[in-house]
Amino acid sequence: MLERGQIPGIEPTIRVGIILPEDRQTNVSLDLSNIPDYQIIPKHLQTESQPYHIEVEQDSLRINGNRSDKLHLRRLDKGIDLGKIIEVYPVVAGRGFHWEKKIRLNLLGDLEIMVHQGALLAINILPLEQYLMCVATSEMNAACPPALIHAQTIVARSWVLANVEQKHRQLGFDVCNDDCCQRYQGTNYLTRQAQVGALATRGEVLLYEGSICDARYSKSCGGMTESFETIWDGNTIPYLQVRRDFEDNGWEDLSLSSETNAARWITSTPPAFCSPATVPGDSLAQYLGSVDEAGRYYRWKVNYTQSQMTELLNLKLGLQAVNVIEIIPVSRGGSGRLNRIRIRYTDRNREIRLREVISEYEIRRVFHTRFLYSSAFIVDRLAVEDKIPGEFTLRGAGWGHGVGLCQIGALGMALKGYAVPAILTHYYPGSELTKIYP
Ligand SMILES: [Zn+2]
Ligand SMILES: [Zn+2]
Repeated sequence: MLERGQIPGIEPTIRVGIILPEDRQTNVSLDLSNIPDYQIIPKHLQTESQPYHIEVEQDSLRINGNRSDKLHLRRLDKGIDLGKIIEVYPVVAGRGFHWEKKIRLNLLGDLEIMVHQGALLAINILPLEQYLMCVATSEMNAACPPALIHAQTIVARSWVLANVEQKHRQLGFDVCNDDCCQRYQGTNYLTRQAQVGALATRGEVLLYEGSICDARYSKSCGGMTESFETIWDGNTIPYLQVRRDFEDNGWEDLSLSSETNAARWITSTPPAFCSPATVPGDSLAQYLGSVDEAGRYYRWKVNYTQSQMTELLNLKLGLQAVNVIEIIPVSRGGSGRLNRIRIRYTDRNREIRLREVISEYEIRRVFHTRFLYSSAFIVDRLAVEDKIPGEFTLRGAGWGHGVGLCQIGALGMALKGYAVPAILTHYYPGSELTKIYP
């Protein structure tokens, strides 16, 4: 597995979780493009009949009638031959988000399958550069300008090698296949352009004072990037700060921690790199990855009736609210993202109660049946009668946590002709682009 803080001198391999125990999946099918390209371990599972149907049976696997604790498909050569793949289905994409669905994955490299607490665990093991090609394509459509694909690949490589989060280490893999880590859909959408992007930037990462940058990124900052410490616990990181996503001096420097400024900001459409002024809404569809619903990323609106809001908060927070009276912002980061709010509601005894929701992640989890686009929003109370609103409208900015590179903003910069180093130093000021392995 990848080690935190180590700068590899040669290309490492990476372990990617494809089916996770939390999916509670108990069967899966595999098709190998050509069986002789793989060593099948253990040997007694070698069979010519495809597909392999794999089921969980107590603590072991049943594979086309044979039992084993584990199955390892080891690809004999490690090259990028797209004719040699393992097709796996079904696999969850968009886990827990509003676009969750089941897909088929085509994988380069090896595949290990085992049982973890009664459910399947499948891990794809492949050379890092092959993983990065697939990530660049899954995160953004390959129709994107080369500068964006190159920048995205360098950022993805840096994030993986900085390896700060290690969310899945105890399960024996480095990253999962989803937005929790980086979206990875095998070779499903892999194009020539993404392969060229990885080859052209092979081994290149961002360094800050000799360490690989924890290069976070999200879909759209909404015009202002957020600081690391607003979203996650921990110290300030010098290259992950609040920053206008504009050309130099392209906009007044507003602190969006203030309610007045946040409201002014969210209800306007400043011409940032990620705004429709730079990347028109209808052209966005041709650049975005294929998993998202066609969304309004820069500015958006969500409406709830009183009963929908009450039901949602009762469900998500286990409140026993009868009416929601008010949603009060308590603290915002410099991009306007809320990381603390207070809900005023009445309970069954008509008493007024308060409940705090803390952290950007928790706020996004609570205010949407699946997951809210971002926590940079203001709340309008409409049709108020007896102090109880009949409706709530959430008006918001951006998509994702907003820290580090803004993917749509980087697209805007690339479309305007900015080169890769300019894009990277815009989002990670003070970082240096360096090749760490040949
Ligand atoms: Zn993950
Ligand atoms: Zn942006």
